[in-house]
Order: sequence, then structure tokens, then C-alpha cells
Amino acid sequence: MADKDFYGILGVSHDASEQDIKQAYRRLVRKYHPDVAEDKEKAQEEMIKVNEAYGVLSDPEKRAYYDRFGSVPGAASSGGDGFGDFGGFSGFSDLGDIFGSFFNMGMGSGRRQARRGRDVELSVDISLQEAYTGCKRTVEYTINDRCPACDGKRTTDSDGIETCPTCNGRGRTQRQVNIGFGTFAQIVECPTCSGTGQKVSKPCSKCNGSGQVKVKKKYEVDIQAGMETGNGVRIPGQGEAGLGGGPNGDVIVFINVKDDPRFKRDGSNLIYVKKLTFTDAALGTEVDIDQVVGEPEKLKIPAGTQSGTKFRIRGKGMPSLRNGQFGDLYVIVQVMIPTKLNSQQKKMLQDFAGLGSQEAKEPSKGFFERIHDAIFNR
Ligand SMILES: [Zn+2]
Ligand SMILES: [Zn+2]
Repeated sequence: MADKDFYGILGVSHDASEQDIKQAYRRLVRKYHPDVAEDKEKAQEEMIKVNEAYGVLSDPEKRAYYDRFGSVPGAASSGGDGFGDFGGFSGFSDLGDIFGSFFNMGMGSGRRQARRGRDVELSVDISLQEAYTGCKRTVEYTINDRCPACDGKRTTDSDGIETCPTCNGRGRTQRQVNIGFGTFAQIVECPTCSGTGQKVSKPCSKCNGSGQVKVKKKYEVDIQAGMETGNGVRIPGQGEAGLGGGPNGDVIVFINVKDDPRFKRDGSNLIYVKKLTFTDAALGTEVDIDQVVGEPEKLKIPAGTQSGTKFRIRGKGMPSLRNGQFGDLYVIVQVMIPTKLNSQQKKMLQDFAGLGSQEAKEPSKGFFERIHDAIFNR
């Protein structure tokens, strides 16, 4: 769902550098600054889009995701009528004053025509196997949806809506604010009509004039292979109904991949600890290594393998969400020393001990250090 052309909004090419994007953003902030823009309402709308685009393209991870999927979970601006997300301004302390004046302009820009519905955030648990193969999940949730009786218009009568008497339809009223050394008039959203400028004189009987009713929704979510905990799937337009004809919000389903008893995950790589008897480790053997999905893989253990030795099975990790390629499976050997020996075993080991050198190559690193390396350094 390539729903928004973030590159087009910023006016940069798809291979633009971080610096190009930053410059484009600064240029647009100046262009849409309320002190210079002729059409201030339009400038505000444009700035919301610019902020959203910059928020994504300035973040390498979000940008890579956007390049692949054409959208980014959690990246949309949170409201069509104000500045929900100022994320794009972080790191531009010198633009603080611009930020401030935008905000003021937003507060005073008049009656609210349409308000985008709220996003609904849900979460689902999936297993490591499901994260590997991708899966579908049905989510159920309750939202405020458009009232079917009045189609969200809050009345079914053609003359059921009047101009708000408190604000005369402006959606704003003045309030005297005392700030210690004097009072000044602050413009606030009209409390009677919540900024809509309208009063419902004949409310719809189904929704009591709110224009919305609670509705249970069900949706099947496609969870792609390679998803990690914290990733989200955005379902556009399935969130709460907008007000005053505004668009619906989205549903964002956050993924939680449950811990697996056998595998530790590090991005697209997996770590698996294989226990070996000390005889197998000393003599060498071939072992089966469990896989997340499918038949076990054979792995040759050479004679004299030390505890903590790391083997890598290429391409047997998790699929990457970014490029679909598979990571690797790291096998760490843990050598088990027997705790119970019968008398015959004991005798044989004592004989073995008497037979000469037990020289072993000193491992350069300890067991946990190797696990640490496997996880963090590869
Ligand atoms: Zn209604
Ligand atoms: Zn009003």
C-alpha cells in the first residue's frame, strides 16, 4: 500500500542522502512558515504532510521499511486538524521558534471542519514458527464507528442542525486569562460545540446526536514472515470514524513474538545451544540440529570440540523483513561432564587418566564470551 509519496512531498529523489533530506525539510519549513505563507490554512496542511514525510525519511530504519512496503507502521500523523506529531522537529533546536508559531497558528486557525478518527492500537502474540513462515490472525476490537442511521451527520432531519449560539458557528470563543501581571484574551475551542460550530437541535435517535455508535469489528491481519517484536501492521481506514466527515483512523497491530524455548533470536540470526557428551566432543560425531520449521539439519562435530565452540549453519536463521533473505543459525556447543558414573565407567576413566597426556588446545575465549560474541559480534 504505497499510500503516500514521501519523496515527492519533500521534493527529493529516491536516492537522496540524509543531508539532501534535511535540507529539503528546512527549505519547506521556511516556505510554509505562517509568517510568509499566503494561504495559512493550506500551509498548515502541507506542513503536516512534510512533517510526516520527514519523520520517516530521516530515520534510516523507517526509510528502509517505507522503501520496501510503501508505508511505515506508526508513521502517519495522528490528526488531520493539528500537529499530532512533531517528531520531525527533533534535532532542529534552531527551528524552535518556527515550531512555536506554527503551533499558535494551529490553535487559532478557525473552526474544525473535519477531524480524522483515532487510531486503534492492538497487539497479537505469535510464535517464532509463525514469525518464520508468516501467518494470519483475526483481531477483534470495538470502535466508535459512523452511525448508520444518520451517516455520522448527527441528525436525520434536514433542519436538525443549527449554528452554535455560543460561538456563532466560528468554533472558537475568547477566554480571559489572568497571567499575574494582567489579563489577555486567549482564543479557545468553543466548549458548547467542541469546535464544530454547530448545534444539533434534533439529534439522531440511534446515536443521540454524537454521529457515532460503538461497533464490534473483526479483521484478518496478514503478518509477514520475518516480523519481530515491536513491528506493527497498519490497516488503513479501519480505526475510529472521523468527525465532521473526516477520514477514519487506522488500526495498528503490534506484533509480539513469544520467546522460544530452543532458539534465541537476534534480528534474522538464531542461536541454539547443543549439548554434547564429553565422549562425543572428544571423539567427534554427527548430530541433529533442530530447525524452527522443518526437519533437523545434520552437523559434523569434529574430534576435540571444546565447550563453547560456535558453528554456523548458513541460511537457517529467520527471514529478514527487509529483503526476505535468511539469516544464519549459530550452534554453540555445551559439553556435558557426567555426574553419575558406574564402577566400570569409573575404572575405565581412571585407566584412561593413567594412559598419558590429556593435552587440550586452550580455548581462546570462555563459554559465555563465545555466546556473547555469537550474539553481538558474529
Ligand atoms: Zn446517528
Ligand atoms: Zn460553538
